[in-house]
Amino acid sequence: MKYIIAKSLDGALAALQDTGTGRARVVAGATDLFLQEQPDRLIDISRLPELQEVTLEKGLLRVGAAVTHNAASASGLIWEKAAALAEASTLLGSPQIRNIGTLGGNVANAAPAADAAVALAALGAEAVLFDSPGRFYVKPFAGLYAGYNCSRVDSCREILAWFLIRPAGPGQGSAFLRFTARGALSLPLANAAARVTLEKGRLKEVSLVVAPAGPAPSRLKKTEALLLGSNLSGKTWSMAEESASAEVAVRGSALRCSVEYRRRLIGILAGRVLSLAAQRAQRNR
Ligand SMILES: Cc1cc2nc3c(=O)[nH]c(=O)nc-3n(C[C@H](O)[C@H](O)[C@H](O)COP(=O)(O)OP(=O)(O)OC[C@H]3O[C@@H](n4cnc5c(N)ncnc54)[C@H](O)[C@@H]3O)c2cc1C
Repeated sequence: MKYIIAKSLDGALAALQDTGTGRARVVAGATDLFLQEQPDRLIDISRLPELQEVTLEKGLLRVGAAVTHNAASASGLIWEKAAALAEASTLLGSPQIRNIGTLGGNVANAAPAADAAVALAALGAEAVLFDSPGRFYVKPFAGLYAGYNCSRVDSCREILAWFLIRPAGPGQGSAFLRFTARGALSLPLANAAARVTLEKGRLKEVSLVVAPAGPAPSRLKKTEALLLGSNLSGKTWSMAEESASAEVAVRGSALRCSVEYRRRLIGILAGRVLSLAAQRAQRNR
């Protein structure tokens, strides 16, 4: 296997297109990819400076796909403008995984309950993808999933470069929560992320995403609609919990937990994550 450390985005795209020496694939932290089948050539994009940047530009938060979970967790800008993402990166995996695992890898790997992906979905992120030097397109987050563990990002042909996120403004806040069977280094039994906008102490906009529930992070649109106009009382969060439990389509697992357990768990996480996002929105004046 040949390992190429890309020096520029254009160079990485050119190396992907050069099929002369066999099949090539993008790699970043390799925490997922090295557990899978190996291609003939790996194009390492993890050191490209432009893919490691976190900037606020033209009213959008732009987060590089090669930003590691630790870098996201340490970014004051991400905490301020997209707290759910910083929170997901803080809770994910272990220190070693967070040191090298990236946001782009988390999404392109397309695991149904990938933590950062759930946060990005709730934040309404869009992805900027390059398929050749200078040629890019922008895709909504929901359009990145093709099925269970199957991404529409073709990592043998294209590079996910940035995520674009509407930054939290006054009266807006987001949060992420997950539940694991043990405290450290454990994949979540369930996770949830929310983003809310408040107006006069009531919920004006709600985005609620949970997983695992189907092949991709799952938006609970009926629960979102039910909550619009509600105040920030315990009754509202109980209503959210009940509605999310009833709405979510979950799978059980003989090894991990039953359908009933996961359904109840997702409901509880939904109520709590919405309440946390609303508290942040209240503080964000
Ligand atoms: C022990 C362990 C614990 C873990 N715990 C968690 C956890 O708690 N929560 C969780 O969500 N995940 C967890 N993971 C999974 C993994 O660490 C994360 O998904 C991580 O973010 C993957 O990033 P990476 O940079 O290592 O991806 P890589 O392994 O480098 O790549 C993953 C896939 O994405 C493609 N790819 C990577 N970057 C790009 C790009 N910019 N453009 C196009 N394609 C790209 C690759 O070709 C590959 O198909 C764990 C993994 C391990 C080994």
